[in-house]
Parts: sequence; structure tokens; C-alpha cells
Amino acid sequence: MTIIDRYAVFGSPISHSKSPRIHTLFAEQTHQALEYTAQEVNAETFIAAVTEFFAQGGKGLNCTVPLKELAYQFATEKTERAKAAKAVNTLKLQSDGSILGDNTDGIGLVNDLTINHGIELKNKRVLILGAGGATRGIITLLLEQKPDCLIVANRTTEKALQLAIEFNHSFEGCGLDTLHDKAFDLIINATSASLSDELPPLPENLLAEKGVCYDLAYSNTPTAFVRWGQEAQGASKSLDGLGMLVEQAAEAFLLWRGVRPDTKTVIALLNAERQG
Ligand code: NDP
Repeated sequence: MTIIDRYAVFGSPISHSKSPRIHTLFAEQTHQALEYTAQEVNAETFIAAVTEFFAQGGKGLNCTVPLKELAYQFATEKTERAKAAKAVNTLKLQSDGSILGDNTDGIGLVNDLTINHGIELKNKRVLILGAGGATRGIITLLLEQKPDCLIVANRTTEKALQLAIEFNHSFEGCGLDTLHDKAFDLIINATSASLSDELPPLPENLLAEKGVCYDLAYSNTPTAFVRWGQEAQGASKSLDGLGMLVEQAAEAFLLWRGVRPDTKTVIALLNAERQG
């Protein structure tokens, strides 16, 4: 009897997740036998759920909102990029029984921006909205692209200020209410507001001419932030996080299975499915 390796994504909310579909497509493409499911898990139930998953023979997990910082604490070993982020979106059971924590969000975002969409970040003014687990994961990789400046603005100002201290002031932290009179070439929405079709309170003219808006969240219809970019800011591109999702998943798949799937065909298929 063939034993199928089990993987899953934990988070809350999770019913909208495309991760099971993506990993199933990756498995078919690379001829790997595995099962990948989605499980509703919140911060209160995380430790019990993750402990049971690995005790029952699970091989690897993705963790999404609001679990990335908890997953970081759960991992017994961490990759360098996970340590930099202090947030983990990928857990892997290793042969010695230890649990490796990785963060593939940053590389997923940068690959989607630069390779899939041809967006150059060097010398650009970049704004990240939000200071949660996703922001932690993308900061280091964005800074490596040498933007002119990077600002992290959060609804709870203190959290953005603390994050800037933690990252040795390699970027500026501030509140959403201090963004007046500033303009950015790239605005990244890393808040979870889109999950309830809300828009963070933002001033007018926040996007520079020919600027780009990028929502980490994704949806079958344009998110509130993607619509804001298109309609209120005249963005040259207003993108959602479907491409990033596929790219970060490919990095997780590589960690788990030792093979990197082709992402372009999967992104094209998912885009066609949501438009049809
Ligand atoms: P967290 O729960 O860790 O952080 C949420 C952040 O959003 C906090 O900074 C919070 O601010 C802010 N926020 C929530 N609601 C609002 C609102 N109405 N107005 C303004 N700010 C708000 O979530 P994550 O960082 O893990 O995830 C953020 C988003 O990124 C989610 O939509 C997630 O789906 C998406 N994501 C997508 C990925 C992809 O591959 N495409 C990968 C990773 C994340 P405060 O501190 O004030 O509460």
C-alpha cells in the first residue's frame, strides 16, 4: 500500500484558501504523491492542532493569518530568513523529528513583483501598510532590492515603531495617520483588511505617477485595495497576491519535496479559473 505524505495549511479564515489547489497542481506537475488539505485553526487552537498533525504523521504545514508568529515559536529550528522575520509560514518535519520553520513570503513577493510583473524596486519609494506576520516576512527581501526608502505604516502606530527598532531602523515605522504629503512608487497592502473587503484609512494622492499597488490578499474579484489603486490612485498596475501565493508555495514545496515546480503555468491557470 502506498502511504501518501500529508501536508496542510492552517489559518483563520481558511475556507477561501487556494493553497490546496496550488499544491495539488504542483504535485501533479512534478509527479509527487501527496495530500494537502486546509484546516480552520485559530491562535487558541494552534498548539493542539499542530501537535496532533505532526503526531499523526503529517510531513509539513503552511501557517497563515493569524498564526505566523506562533508557528515561529513552535519551530525547533529556523532558517535564516525565518529568524530575520520572526515569523514562519512553512513548517517541515525533519528526519530527526525536529520541526524546521521557514518563511517563504518575502521571496514569493519579490519573485512575483520582479520576475512575473517586471517591476524594478531599486531606488523606488516603497510603502508597506500593516505590521503583522506578513510584513515581517517581506521586509528583509524588499530591502535587499535596494529601494530608495521603505516605510512601514500601521493602524496601531506602536507596533510599526517596535518593528523598526527590531529591524535596527533599516526602515521607518509610523502610523497610518502620518502619511499625508507623501507619495510612493509602490504601495504594498500587508494588512488583513481585504479579508473583510475593507480598506485601511489612507490619504489621497499617496501613489506617485505611474506607481504600482500590490495587495498581498487575493480574491476572485478585485479586493478593496486593488480597486482603490485602480480607481482612486490611477495605478499603472494594481495587483493582488495570487502570484505571490503561488511563488511562496513553490518555495515551500521545494523545501518539503526537493523539487521546485514551474509557477507560471499554475498562475495562468488560477487566473483563468477566477476570470471564467
Ligand atoms: P496579521 O494578522 O499578522 O496582521 C494584520 C495586520 O493588518 C496588522 O498590522 C493590523 O493592524 C492590520 N489591519 C487589520 N485590519 C485592518 C484595518 N481594517 N485597517 C488597517 N489595518 C488593519 O496578518 P498577516 O500579516 O499574516 O497577513 C496580512 C495579509 O497578507 C492577509 O490579508 C493575508 O492573507 C495576506 N498574505 C498573503 C500572502 C500571499 O501569499 N499572497 C502571504 C502572506 C500574507 P493592527 O496591528 O493595528 O491590528
